[in-house]
Amino acid sequence: MKELSKRTANFTDSVIRRMTRISLQHGAINLSQGFPDFDPPKEITDRLSEVAKEGPHQYALTWGAQNFREALAAKQEHFSGMKINPDTEIVVTCGSTEAMMAAMMSVCNPGEKVVIFSPFYENYGADTILSGAEPIYVPLKPPAFHFDADELEAAMKQEGVKALILCNPSNPCGKVFTRQELMVIADLAKKYDIYVITDEVYEHILYEPNKHTYMASLPGMRERTIMCNSLSKTYSITGWRLGYVIASPEIIDRVKKVHDFLTVGAAAPLMEACVVGLKFGDEYYRELKAHYTHMKNLFVGGLRDIGLQFTEPQGAYYVLVDISEFGYENDYLFCEDLARKVGVGAVPGSSFFRENVNHLIRVHFAKQDETLNAALDRLADIRRKMK
Ligand code: GLN
Repeated sequence: MKELSKRTANFTDSVIRRMTRISLQHGAINLSQGFPDFDPPKEITDRLSEVAKEGPHQYALTWGAQNFREALAAKQEHFSGMKINPDTEIVVTCGSTEAMMAAMMSVCNPGEKVVIFSPFYENYGADTILSGAEPIYVPLKPPAFHFDADELEAAMKQEGVKALILCNPSNPCGKVFTRQELMVIADLAKKYDIYVITDEVYEHILYEPNKHTYMASLPGMRERTIMCNSLSKTYSITGWRLGYVIASPEIIDRVKKVHDFLTVGAAAPLMEACVVGLKFGDEYYRELKAHYTHMKNLFVGGLRDIGLQFTEPQGAYYVLVDISEFGYENDYLFCEDLARKVGVGAVPGSSFFRENVNHLIRVHFAKQDETLNAALDRLADIRRKMK
């Protein structure tokens, strides 16, 4: 038999999603793959029941239903302060996973390079390879996860660099890039004529006093920023797979074509049900933030009581916990043991870092109090069971 494609040989399946399967297998409380165990807003699920009877049940327009794109443009204009044309500057995708893949395929030619901060959300490495490009990594240095501007410039000025991927707020390290840091990145992107592909799915999940700055809203960045985003985290509907790309009409024309042939379109009834959510007032986002602040405080307070070392996030809902004290050389084996012996699912940090980092695991806290308390109860026994 002939060899299968080279481009699918060089990356593994997602370790995040593998850890969900391992958690299920061991009956562990799954704090690995980031998704909530609480319900979406009732207005959205009530509307879904109506839509089940009324429709639509057939394809929406390829780049997203008109009313959905209009409501989305209005919501993103409100928060980012940018004008967004719902007809020419948005494509609705199947999750931000498709948004990112479509963005990468629209920008990159085989052989070109993409700059990625490390640690990074594992999809970016695979997306880069699938689009034929080569990833170059720039470290975010723990514990504050700052980057070195000279190191970044050295990467961005390399021959063939076409794009930089920016996850802000960052999965997995919880960093929220300041306006000053974004200005440094933006100036380099303009200087070396590089596109910035952003992943802003945690835009509303921030802890005081951190603020979200939209890269596209910085001077001169609108035309070179491709924002990938989703409704998954904001409305607690990760299984609905509703994502989107916002960019200039020239870029969106290309993204529309990639999306058209990759998936045809996002689910029509789900878009219809979400219009009501996109029209929520500011109070919804204030409550979302207060809810996440509560979950973060409960969880990191519990980790602190147990005496574990970790970095407290500025945004998103992940915590990197230091496991050095347990003496494992392999963080993947640690996570397998953690699921089996302690009954808590986590993701090995090595699946996010380019550097040789094996002493961190990622856990998340987008869970009900009882789930978090049960996980903390189990973790209280971690030293007895893992040493
Ligand atoms: N973003 C979530 C995580 O990092 C889940 C992503 C996914 O599995 N699509 O865990």
